[in-house]
Amino acid sequence: MRLTQMPSEFQKALPVLEKIKEAGFEAYFVGGSVRDALLNRPIHDVDIATSSYPEETKQIFSRTVDIGIEHGTVLVLEGEEEYEVTTFRTEDVYVDYRRPSAVSFVRSLEEDLKRRDFTVNAFALDETGEIVDLFDGLKDLENQILRAVGVASERFNEDALRIMRGFRFQASLGFELETETFKAMKVLTPLLEKISIERTFVEFDKLLLAPYWRVGLSSMIESQAYDYLPDMAGSQDKLQSLFDLEDNFTFESSEQAWAALLWALEVEDAQQFLKHWKTSRQFAKQVQDLLTILSLREGGALSKRDCYQFNLDSLLQAENLRKAQGKEVNPQAITETYESLTFHDKKEMQINGDILIKEYGYQPGPELGDVLDEIEYAIVDGVLENDRQAIHDYLRGRK
Ligand code: ATP
Ligand code: MG
Repeated sequence: MRLTQMPSEFQKALPVLEKIKEAGFEAYFVGGSVRDALLNRPIHDVDIATSSYPEETKQIFSRTVDIGIEHGTVLVLEGEEEYEVTTFRTEDVYVDYRRPSAVSFVRSLEEDLKRRDFTVNAFALDETGEIVDLFDGLKDLENQILRAVGVASERFNEDALRIMRGFRFQASLGFELETETFKAMKVLTPLLEKISIERTFVEFDKLLLAPYWRVGLSSMIESQAYDYLPDMAGSQDKLQSLFDLEDNFTFESSEQAWAALLWALEVEDAQQFLKHWKTSRQFAKQVQDLLTILSLREGGALSKRDCYQFNLDSLLQAENLRKAQGKEVNPQAITETYESLTFHDKKEMQINGDILIKEYGYQPGPELGDVLDEIEYAIVDGVLENDRQAIHDYLRGRK
């Protein structure tokens, strides 16, 4: 099959293919971008596969960056764009289910396509727009089916992350899992325990953010994969409760998705949970903020002091999630309260510890901190002006 119209992203990248071909090697567009082009979806990350070995690729282009030579990947800078150019490879023996024990570079496109996960991810596209489709991926694309390349159980045994990827692509494409493929996934979910958490997080996160997250999540639940994910064993019913969110709701950020997940799981110690998922501290803090806001909101409207602790974006994301939970919401009131605050950062306070010590005779120590907190909250509550004279009068009245 030939693409009648090459999307502009590929046209822009054609010189890269052509230069590799001029040097006597094969080169193709591969992976998700070809799938997305065939589905008329927006394309991101145009990936290129080639028969040239990394050192050979580097000879062809004047501007390259070594980003993963051991995996065969060279970043090629072409005009304003950058492309990952990866040598055809096989990943033959997986000893620990985590990563290939050896990556072998090969000169054959077929070998490279064979090691890819799903038939719809295993296309190659040449410079003329011709689609190489060795595994009937076009038919699967037409029928909206996700099918493992080759023998499903072998492929998931080689790399169990593909199980999570299967759920994730279901969530992003809305496709069905082919029967044998799903059967193998269900049998092999215990292998997920052996996959690095960081890789699993990426796939689960993409699943939650995808438009058909309900589809991906319901397969994940059906397969009982959760039993092999950090702190999620036995959580079928709680996970199911995510389906109570408003129809057609999609998560607007990772933080919001994970806050909804932790809320559904009734996680008591979010920091611990997210530590087990090895997320960044900043991410954990943002999810924690959302959970705290959700809890505060259960008690009614947010006070000025409540709003002061968070940024407006978090406050509104939590409110949106509440809306999806079918609860009463008032984003406008929250915005107004937030905007009515005298300041959002105590650095803007017209007093500090130094002034208290030098001008008011306070000693460094806990009492100083208490007085500063008291002033800060009095200003936040709107009972004291953020003004030197007003603070002065307040301090005198306090003594
Ligand atoms: P997205 O559009 O979300 O980036 P993608 O299909 O490009 O989806 P990537 O994770 O970027 O997915 O991987 C690029 C390609 O590499 C895939 O399309 C697939 O062919 C191959 N691939 C990636 N990870 C694996 C894996 N674990 N096992 C087999 N093939 C994989
Ligand atoms: Mg990609």
